[in-house]
Amino acid sequence: MEIAFIGLGHMGAPMAANLVKAGHRVVGFDLAPAANEAALAAGVEIAESGAAAARSADVVITMLQQGRQVIAAYEGGDGASGLLESARPGALFIDSSTISVADARVAHELAARAGFHALDAPVSGGVVGAEAGTLAFMVGGSAEDFAAAEPVFGAMGARIVHCGGPGLGQAAKICNNLMLGISMIGVSEAFVLGERLGLTDQALYDVASNASGQCWSLTTNCPVPGPVPSSPANHGYRPGFAAALMAKDLGLAEDAIGDTGAHAELGRLAAEIFRRFSTEGGAESDFSAIIEDIRARSET
Ligand code: NAD
Repeated sequence: MEIAFIGLGHMGAPMAANLVKAGHRVVGFDLAPAANEAALAAGVEIAESGAAAARSADVVITMLQQGRQVIAAYEGGDGASGLLESARPGALFIDSSTISVADARVAHELAARAGFHALDAPVSGGVVGAEAGTLAFMVGGSAEDFAAAEPVFGAMGARIVHCGGPGLGQAAKICNNLMLGISMIGVSEAFVLGERLGLTDQALYDVASNASGQCWSLTTNCPVPGPVPSSPANHGYRPGFAAALMAKDLGLAEDAIGDTGAHAELGRLAAEIFRRFSTEGGAESDFSAIIEDIRARSET
């Protein structure tokens, strides 16, 4: 299969490399020359533009930062032709960027109107999962397009779930990260409160990890050093999953909360807390470092 890969950044480069390893011809493009050079070394052919990369591809994958970048890449503009203008009839467009549900639906609509198949397929698993080919894909679009794309996802990921129609892959991603953001704040507040009451972190961990407080934020990504040696707290809060990305995803959840009218007070608050933490110096730390912010804000 020939695959165009647009956006060869932290995630895109290793994902494209895994498609090459699986035997696909991958023609890539990134606006940043250094990203193109790194991908070239991994066996990705580099085109002179996104449109050129897409010209003869069966599948066109985008892995960009934001929704407006995806829509701009699809539509073109400023003299540059867009992916939709240059791709061959019947091609399948897969957007794996994390963007809003509303933008994902616009991207689907643009692709469908131009006669293409389309899926939204955001991922979780981070750079480590992208390199190992163990990403989780959450996919929105038709069952037929999902079935056609499964071998492509299989080369880059280990857990692939069809979540429903257009935009519902993004919906699953932001709903999951809404749970995650809130649960990490909850676990962190409980440790800080426990410490103030005289509990050791280990004692609280031993109780909660076998009781109803049990969750991923406690037992895998534990925000205090000690109980879970592999958690970022034991490694200077090196990500992991950076707080800036959590703030971004909670911002997308906030947009969806506004659009749908869902009553989600904790979601809005979690978005505000991670946004503040990111702008006040925590952006590059793992999101579990939010516990340091909670400690620092606690009364002395
Ligand atoms: P990144 O900034 O490293 O990569 C994005 C790349 O897109 C950049 O290299 C940029 O030059 C390129 N780009 C932008 N517009 C372009 C265009 N029109 N044509 C070609 N290239 C273009 O970002 P990333 O960390 O790889 O993340 C990509 C997406 O995946 C984001 O939406 C992010 O939220 C999501 N995500 C990231 C992680 C992570 O751990 N990094 C985890 C899960 C999901």
